[in-house]
Amino acid sequence: MHELSIVKDIFSTLEEHYQTKINDIQKVQITAGLLSNVQPILIQNAFDAFIHDNEVYNDMDLEVVVNDIIAHCDNCDKDFKVEFHRFVCSCGTPSTNIVQGNELFISKVIFKQS
Ligand SMILES: [Zn+2]
Repeated sequence: MHELSIVKDIFSTLEEHYQTKINDIQKVQITAGLLSNVQPILIQNAFDAFIHDNEVYNDMDLEVVVNDIIAHCDNCDKDFKVEFHRFVCSCGTPSTNIVQGNELFISKVIFKQS
């Protein structure tokens, strides 16, 4: 399953970065662009399954932030929001120059208050 491998990647990144402090993480926020092929609900399900199987992470929370698709119009020299997969600027110029929407990264890590 695609989402489970993403969740495993997230945890290996966290383990690498924070080592034993990973147990003190309360919440992880990931940002996924609409083009990154990530379904927030599926990621959430995969995350819940993962922490269920890994007791030390039982009370960790996940938040998925979804980024809009933004493309750049060379004609207007402006960025525009791509809606309904219509890669056309309001001036009518088509563009596949994506400046946002492909990303998938850990955007925030919140530690438990001790
Ligand atoms: Zn334009």
